[in-house]
Amino acid sequence: MDRLKATIRDVPDFPTPGILFKDLTPVMADAALLRAVTDALAAPYQTAGITLVAGMEARGFIFGSLVAAALNAGFIPLRKPGKLPYRTYQVGYSLEYGKAALEMHIDAVAAQDTVLLVDDLIATGGTAAASCELITRNGARIAGCAFVVELDFLHGRKLLSAYPVHSLVHY
Ligand code: AMP
Repeated sequence: MDRLKATIRDVPDFPTPGILFKDLTPVMADAALLRAVTDALAAPYQTAGITLVAGMEARGFIFGSLVAAALNAGFIPLRKPGKLPYRTYQVGYSLEYGKAALEMHIDAVAAQDTVLLVDDLIATGGTAAASCELITRNGARIAGCAFVVELDFLHGRKLLSAYPVHSLVHY
């Protein structure tokens, strides 16, 4: 995890002044590190009976798909409004740097599914909490939420107190 921290690139004032953006593209480009991150995100859930991994646009798609494959689970995308072709549920939320909304296909998750939520980073927790709201809409169970990076000083996991939360590195 020291190598993971050393490989994450800090980009000051992106996308707006005052935000220190944690750029994970150097992690994605490192084959051994990408494998290690995938395995570490999946490890706590190997025997949790995960049927679906949900990932948020866009970096959640990358890590979420890899974790889904590692867990022999399916993957479902949570997307920005207007991107999904079929009928959707929508939830609005606040972001560390603005406001946003997420959508999920109404038939993406069934009541009998056990879902793991995966994203690259948890900041205020708004994105993840909105995602959990979408996933549980049809009665599915969330087994946990897994992040590569957690910004502890924003206390995002408070919004996810109903679920186990695992993060690989903390700032
Ligand atoms: P939040 O809803 O505040 O927890 O924000 C989490 C979402 O915004 C994740 O999808 C992150 O990819 C992105 N994000 C928020 N803050 C940062 C940051 N400082 N560096 C990189 N990504 C961030």
